[in-house]
Amino acid sequence: MNIDLHTHSYYSDGLLSPKDVVRKAVNAGCNFLSLTDHDTLEGIEEARKYAESAKLSFINGVEISAQHNSKSIHIVGLGINPNEKILLDGLEKNNQFRVDRAKKISEGLGKVGILRAYEKARTLSKTDYITRTHFAQMLIKERVCSNMSSVFKRYMTGKKPGAVKGEWASSVEVINWIHQAGGLAILAHPLRYKITLTKLKKLVKDLKFSGLDGIEIVNYFSSSEDIRVSKMIADENEILYSGGSDFHGWTGQTIELGNIPEFDYGDKLVIKYLR
Ligand code: AMP
Ligand code: MN
Ligand code: MN
Ligand code: MN
Repeated sequence: MNIDLHTHSYYSDGLLSPKDVVRKAVNAGCNFLSLTDHDTLEGIEEARKYAESAKLSFINGVEISAQHNSKSIHIVGLGINPNEKILLDGLEKNNQFRVDRAKKISEGLGKVGILRAYEKARTLSKTDYITRTHFAQMLIKERVCSNMSSVFKRYMTGKKPGAVKGEWASSVEVINWIHQAGGLAILAHPLRYKITLTKLKKLVKDLKFSGLDGIEIVNYFSSSEDIRVSKMIADENEILYSGGSDFHGWTGQTIELGNIPEFDYGDKLVIKYLR
């Protein structure tokens, strides 16, 4: 079985339309696909329509930015009702911060001589909700940096000029929105938060206390050791398993859609529990 439950379209920071994401998933032999754009449900209807005509099982999804004890994390909602007002209102709140933050990022970059960063990044986005990926792609296009990881290191994180502290909704709120919309809440890419294993275990335990349903065991670059550690954390908390590539489609990113390392999800595969 080929699943990909974490992907992005141009409604957040991906490059392709939802239709093209579906087309790529079909070509990759995917059986189950979810589109999980950052803090938006805009691409779902288009993706669902094309998935249905291609006979691909499609799961409504979203990747929501959240704060947990001042750390920014990502919680994926799977099987959500895209018309649920509590969820839509919550995402709207997150996106108000996204707009304010983009202006602050731009001011920060301006101070080191990168002028009109907001306007330039905006031209790379389909919507007003510009992400750090758009700033990163803009800096690559302007030849300020040569790749995404150097942009994040030099400009967008820690105390760097374009770094802005997250002010997303709390993890408790985000899990609640997902549940109100009938979905399951999954911690995205657990090994990418740059925290110790002890802190990661505490994070998952706290989130489980707030209703977390599962974590991603497999991402595109997961090693067998990554998979082992993630599964161990899931099992300790008796929560479900998910997996997805985190495909964005930008040039220079090697992630492919529908081609994550194999893993035996067994009875804990999250899609078996969707309502
Ligand atoms: P945002 O939601 O605007 O904070 O942007 C976060 C997005 O930036 C993530 O979803 C990734 O797509 C991208 N990103 C974050 N850190 C890195 C990194 N070190 N290298 C490449 N992309 C990154
Ligand atoms: Mn992204
Ligand atoms: Mn993420
Ligand atoms: Mn993602």
